[in-house]
Amino acid sequence: MRHYSKSVCVYCGSSFGRDRRIVDAVRELGSLIAGEKWRLVYGAGNCGLMGTVADAAREAGGNTFGAIPVHMPEQINFDLDCLVFTGNMHERKSLMMTNSDAFIGLPGGFGTLEELFEVVTWRQIGIHSKPIHLLNTGGYWDPLITLMRSVIANGFAKETAIELLSVSDTPRQLVAKIKADFNSQS
Ligand code: AMP
Repeated sequence: MRHYSKSVCVYCGSSFGRDRRIVDAVRELGSLIAGEKWRLVYGAGNCGLMGTVADAAREAGGNTFGAIPVHMPEQINFDLDCLVFTGNMHERKSLMMTNSDAFIGLPGGFGTLEELFEVVTWRQIGIHSKPIHLLNTGGYWDPLITLMRSVIANGFAKETAIELLSVSDTPRQLVAKIKADFNSQS
């Protein structure tokens, strides 16, 4: 078992997208997570950015934890330190949440958005108090940040809701912020 101190959950695309900078940033992030001796928690797929981040973490000697529903049509990554099969998507997301100390939204599609906003809304109503970060490579998430500001401006979320997500432009900046989060907790 590869040693780890904290666990960091990533939500990301099961596709690669079209911006090469995103794939490179996700690979760098996987490697940095392993370098910090943090366990990578994710959805156990080996397709798209999910595969990229897990491969990078493994190659850098990091511990990896994946959870995936038994009947998920995604390709499964069997090369993990811990692979858990769940009965359904709700169990998967709950397991990922309870096994993590921080969350990162990487570029991705609708599945990524759904998973990310579940932990955002759970933090909003006090189900957990763990930090949540966005990796905004190439401004990928700018439209989402604009939408969040609009939701707040329209009175559907508190002014402070924008602080639920901490936005970073680079993997190094993001990892530095998570380190600061962990240091302030200990
Ligand atoms: P995507 O961002 O759509 O490529 O999906 C990324 C992740 O979201 C993968 O782990 C998928 O298994 C997961 N996912 C896909 N569809 C859903 C869904 N309807 N609800 C929750 N998660 C999903």
